[in-house]
Order: sequence, then C-alpha cells, then structure tokens
Amino acid sequence: MTSTLRQPRIAIVGAGMSGICLGALLLEAGIETFTIFEKAEDTGGTWRENTYPGIACDVPSRFYQYSFARNPHWSRAMAPGAEIHAYLEQVARDTGVSAHIRYAAEVASVDWTDGCWELTTAAGDSARFDFVVSATGILHHPRYPDIEGLDTFAGPSFHSARWDHDAPLDGQRIGVIGTGSTGAQIVSDLAGRASQLTVFQRTPHWVMQLGNPEFSRFTKWLHRRLPSYDRLSYHGWRLFIESFSPALLRPGIARRFATWQIRRQLRQIKDPALRAQLTPDFEPMCRRLIISTSYYDAVQRDDVEVVATGIERIEPDGVRTTDGVLHPCDVLVLATGFDSHAYLRPIAMTGPDGTTLEQAWAAGPRAYRTVTLPGFPNFFMFMGPNSPVGNYSLIAIAEAQAGHMLQWIDRWRRGEIDTVAPTTTATDAYYDDVRAAMPATIWASGCTSWYVGAGGNVEVYPWAPRHFRKQLAEIKDTDFLTTKTSSG
Ligand code: NAP
Repeated sequence: MTSTLRQPRIAIVGAGMSGICLGALLLEAGIETFTIFEKAEDTGGTWRENTYPGIACDVPSRFYQYSFARNPHWSRAMAPGAEIHAYLEQVARDTGVSAHIRYAAEVASVDWTDGCWELTTAAGDSARFDFVVSATGILHHPRYPDIEGLDTFAGPSFHSARWDHDAPLDGQRIGVIGTGSTGAQIVSDLAGRASQLTVFQRTPHWVMQLGNPEFSRFTKWLHRRLPSYDRLSYHGWRLFIESFSPALLRPGIARRFATWQIRRQLRQIKDPALRAQLTPDFEPMCRRLIISTSYYDAVQRDDVEVVATGIERIEPDGVRTTDGVLHPCDVLVLATGFDSHAYLRPIAMTGPDGTTLEQAWAAGPRAYRTVTLPGFPNFFMFMGPNSPVGNYSLIAIAEAQAGHMLQWIDRWRRGEIDTVAPTTTATDAYYDDVRAAMPATIWASGCTSWYVGAGGNVEVYPWAPRHFRKQLAEIKDTDFLTTKTSSG
C-alpha cells in the first residue's frame, strides 16, 4: 500500500548525542528524508572533542545511554569518554543514522525563504528544508582565558577540549588552569605522572565522592542475557538520580541533608590551610558538582600544589601570580570551560519577517519549553535555553525533546500543518513561570557558573525531570501558531 504521508525534508545540525538521537527516532518512525550536517569528520560531539586524560562521564552509564539502545557492556559505573564515543558511533551505525550524515559540512546560515528554510554551509552549498533542528550541543565552544602573555608560553599550551596528544606529560612540570569537572578529572589523572603539578584555582568547587567501580563479568553477562533486568536497571538509576530533585529545587530537609553530606567530605583534606583553600563560599550544588573520589587525594600529594593566588600573567617559563611568584611549567593546560550560552551561534539565522536570531535573543537566549522559538517556524532546538536539568543525563533530556519534535513532524506528515512556532504570549508566560520558580532552586542561591547567563539569568530548568517530560509530551495547541496552506 502506498503511504499517503508527506515526507518532510529535515536538516539536523550536529552529529553528536542529540543529532544521533533524533536520527534514530526518525528512522524508527519511517522518515528517511533527513540529513545531519556535521562540521567535523566524525560523530560524537563533545565525546569526540574531549579526549583529555581522565575523561569519564559524571552520570552513571546505565542511565547515560539511549533508552532505545541500551548497552549491556559498559565497563564501569561511569564510563570513560572513549567508551561513550564508541557507543555513540555504534548506535549511529546500527540504527542506520550514519548513512544520513554529511561530514565536514559546517552550517553557516539558515534563512527562511519561500516558505521553507534555506541552509547554507561554510563551503557555500545550499539546500532547502521543511524543518531545521539545532543539535549543536551546549559545551562545544572552548572558552580561552583572557590572561596576559598566554601566547608567549614556550611549551605546549592547549585547551582541555583541544588536547595535544603529542605533548609529553610524564615527568613534566604541568600547570592546570581551572578546577571545574574537567580540571578535576585532569588533575586526578596527571597527579603522579607529572613531576610537579600546579593547579591554578580561581574559585574552589564542591566535590562529591562517588566511586566508579568496574562492572564484573557476571554483571555484564546479566545485563546482556536479561534485557528486562537491564531495562529495570536503567529506570532504577533514573529514579535514583531524580530522587535528588527536591534538594536542588527547593529549600528544606532534603537540601540540608545533601549539602551537609557534601560539606563533610572536605574533612578528607587533612591540612587545615589546604582545606580552607578548597572550601567554596557558596552552597554545595549551586554549581555543577564535581563527582570524584580521587581529586582530594590528588591535591594532597607532595608533588601537587594548589595555587589560589590570582594569575598576573603567563610568561615563557610558567605562570606568574599576583604575589610575584613564578610557577615554572613545561606544559600548560587550560581547563577553563566553554561558552555555554552560544547555543547554535555563530550560525546566522533569519526568520520569515527578517528577524535574526541575534535580534530575537537580544535580551538573552530563550525558548518555549526549551525547544521552540517564537517567530522561527519549524525550528527545533536540542539543549536550548533552560535545558539542562541539574546533574541529570543529557541523553534523557534529548529523548524528551526529540519526542516533542516528532509530534509536530508527525502532524506535518499527516498534512495537518505546514508550519508551527510557539506564540510570543505563551513564551512570555512560560518565562514568567520560569522566573517565579528559579529563586527557590539551588542554582540561584548565589554563585557564578556556566548555568548563569548574561544579566545573571540562570539558564537551567527550574522544575523536576518528570515535569520536563510531561511538559514536552503534552502539546498545548493554544500555545502555538500553526499555518496550513498546502492541500497535501
Ligand atoms: P567549568 O565548570 O566552567 O570550569 C572552568 C574552570 O576554569 C573554573 O574553575 C573557572 O574558574 C576556571 N577559569 C575560567 N577562566 C579562568 C581564568 N581566566 N583564570 C583562571 N581560571 C579560570 O568548565 P569545565 O570544567 O570544562 O566543566 C563544564 C561542564 O562540563 C561541567 O560542569 C560538566 O557539566 C561538563 N563536564 C562533564 C564531565 C563529565 O561528564 N565527566 C567532565 C567534564 C565536564 P571560576 O570558577 O572562578 O570561573
């Protein structure tokens, strides 16, 4: 029987975890008319770009995976980065998504033209699409520190997401600038390898000790042989992680207990002076928690020094701090984070009425329920503004967002709509709710972090993951402006 469903032309920008997720779900729904534009030569997004020593996920692997493509072979409770990259590549291959990826195809602009999106690559190729989906990731624009003399350093110097694998590490004097999740993992790995490791800390972070045990052969066998057990384990981990929501979202006993637990872990630092140096002046969990059992051990080694004095400048031989001391280094690692507020930019985007994305976001990035944007029809975002849900699995977030997109794509296929975008009124009302809910959350309790955007707006999701799934699963028709002009 011939299908009467229309076939949408869909462009997905980015072949990372989110792009692969949507590709796989589109194929499952029988939609093959999509192209994934990937600027690099390989899939995997952040897990392709980040190859620094010690990289591992800080969300348990049993839940940091697609619910529709669970992997019984994870080696550890929290998988190493290379294993996650290999997993994503395998899912792309096994589901058939790989065949839809155009590599080395960086998207430069997307413009609404004649009732559809015209997408142009940096190489100048263009094509038209009914839907455009941004799957560009949230942590992929390295943030380089604005420190005088950075380019004068004589040895290898690189950002953590651009690791120079030719740079010698063993027996070297290594400086690491930055003490977030990335810096902590790098320091944990390099301690004992470097002859001297100097950790330049601008702000201390809270550390939560969660072990990362290897899975036994028996456990892997159990997960492989009993898919229902494997599925149960996925949901068990989901419920466990969701049980932290009350502590994150509102003051009360759960928050007091969680913050007490995290604070007391600092007791592992024996030297009172070092403990004072490592004690943050903000609430635990206000910034994303560092999950590590080895960071506190690493910084207490004799060959590791935490320098909390500010950096004056970088010189050819090392880092000079504001007290005049030169800390000699052979290798300098910049674990200084990412511009998490760029979203799909620098891609230039222009909507039907000539409004650009820059103009639409002049007062700060925003999206209706994290996925859609008023005035930009048939445009969806993964990990859009206010997407991250605490220390939750971004894969589960992507799946909920993909489910929302698929509902609209399905209506388009059935010929019920030609275009869809949220109304400005609904988006304003949504942000009234976001703003009202945010002050009770731990992320708004008084700290700077990559969750906080320009103007001090916290760009995370202020409700529980369960609410997120519900908000995206239901479509409130009155919140959207749809058009239907074609007869198809
Ligand atoms: P980050 O949390 O933003 O930390 C950046 C660090 O660099 C901070 O300590 C910051 O100091 C410091 N820094 C920035 N500019 C500086 C300057 N000019 N001088 C001195 N210090 C400077 O970035 P990240 O560690 O890359 O982590 C980002 C996020 O990636 C994490 O929160 C996590 O969500 C994710 N991540 C996850 C994993 C995982 O799954 N295992 C691993 C790594 C990263 P201030 O604090 O003073 O700004």
